[in-house]
Amino acid sequence: MNPIALIGAGPSGLAGARALSRAGIPFTVFEAGPDVGGLWNIDNPRSTMYESAHLISSRTTTEFAEFPMDSTADYPGHRELHRYFRSYADAYGLREHIRFDTRVTAVEPVDGDATGASGWLVTAIGPDGAASTTEHPAVVLANGTLAEPNVPTFPGEFTGEVMHTSAYKSPKVFDGKRVLIIGAGNSGCDIAVDAVHHAASVDLSVRRGYYFVPRYLFGRPSDTLNQGRPLPARIKQFVDTRVLRAFTGDPVRFGFPEPDYRIYESHPIVNTLILNHLGQGDLRVVRDIDRFDGRTVHFADGSEADYDLVVLATGYRLDYPFVAREHLNWTSAAPELYLNIFPPSFNGLFVLGMIEASGIGWQGRYEQAELIAAYLAAQRDEPDAASRFRDAAARPWPDLTGGYHYLGLDRMSYYVNKDAYRRTMKRMLRSLPAPGGAAAAASVPVDAPVDGAAPAGARTGSRT
Ligand SMILES: Cc1cc2nc3c(=O)[nH]c(=O)nc-3n(C[C@H](O)[C@H](O)[C@H](O)COP(=O)(O)OP(=O)(O)OC[C@H]3O[C@@H](n4cnc5c(N)ncnc54)[C@H](O)[C@@H]3O)c2cc1C
Repeated sequence: MNPIALIGAGPSGLAGARALSRAGIPFTVFEAGPDVGGLWNIDNPRSTMYESAHLISSRTTTEFAEFPMDSTADYPGHRELHRYFRSYADAYGLREHIRFDTRVTAVEPVDGDATGASGWLVTAIGPDGAASTTEHPAVVLANGTLAEPNVPTFPGEFTGEVMHTSAYKSPKVFDGKRVLIIGAGNSGCDIAVDAVHHAASVDLSVRRGYYFVPRYLFGRPSDTLNQGRPLPARIKQFVDTRVLRAFTGDPVRFGFPEPDYRIYESHPIVNTLILNHLGQGDLRVVRDIDRFDGRTVHFADGSEADYDLVVLATGYRLDYPFVAREHLNWTSAAPELYLNIFPPSFNGLFVLGMIEASGIGWQGRYEQAELIAAYLAAQRDEPDAASRFRDAAARPWPDLTGGYHYLGLDRMSYYVNKDAYRRTMKRMLRSLPAPGGAAAAASVPVDAPVDGAAPAGARTGSRT
């Protein structure tokens, strides 16, 4: 059997490598950057990390379950996290499978056979600049979801500087400037907090209201609270809205619009420093953009102001540029995949890490990898079991929303509820034979609770 191809050695790709290696499935990893760690390696040219970035989900809810982080920080910074991924790769002997500085440019079906039955051709450009093509029975795509900037267009033209958060590294860029940040997602708020110490002025343009979650509640990382059986969505929304009001007050007081949706129907913002700075008068909330005119920005409420630098904190869009869209069943802003992993045609392509969820962490990505590995092992060793697994995809797909009505935004198109998702993953994993006779579910004991209720606390990462 030729090795499976795995694209990317970020947290998801490493999880994939570990799961395939545990299942005894040969694989080769193609990594465009010089090291493991994905976007947590700020030196990876594709990284969208910035100097001040730390986890927004807490260490213990984010780390790989079988490899606790050697850290006392609740919310470690990116350099510590990069070291963690290096240690993870070394501990499980993953590096020897990785071809670094090797960028995949094309993934095409052998003989043009879109069923994937004949396998896939992977073309990559290596460190010497030469392209080579190798044949693989299956390809796992783990090239990340937060790399391709979403750059909206606005009427008019801004003649000052414009940058997307993906290019932001250090707050020195703000020195003495009048800064407008468009979008108050997690990255927008982090960067606004950086900017207030450097810029001449900072405004934050928002279209809708947000829910702000403190990093600590009752003296503990907020996402470590409320572990146990998840509350029904409506009850949790009711309780958590009130808990947040008690801790952070009403963001409307600071100029934010009232959210026109319930908590957890979009990604909450894990940042209350932004509210402190608003309270100190260090920055202002302004309305949605109406148009640009030279250095002047006109807002939807008729107000206007002049700026030197506009920062687009407008998020990212999914991109799998090396594979034709039909192979991934793209229907809208995201491929429509069974369990966010499997194209419904089961063509031998697998997507790993195309998941956004409050609190899913890297362990959630590992559980995706385990399912892929168990399916590939079943295809090899027990084809009937693999066929039954595929049959399940022909029935109505499980509800992964957990009863939450997510906003109909592009960035929410692959959003899931972590409890519903992990519960489903566990069930599907149990439906497959354990690879090589060892428990496929080894790292997810079948009787163990799946990470408890989503707490009233910190959430994992849509960094818009
Ligand atoms: C500022 C910031 C803070 C965040 N905070 C959190 C948090 O607190 N908690 C959390 O869980 N998540 C957080 N995230 C989300 C983050 O995306 C995940 O933690 C994690 O990095 C996703 O891993 P990944 O492997 O899927 O993608 P990535 O980390 O993006 O890794 C993808 C890898 O694929 C490689 N690659 C891409 N294209 C190719 C190609 N064509 N050929 C070969 N290799 C390729 C890249 O070089 C990269 O190494 C944060 C993100 C950002 C930007």
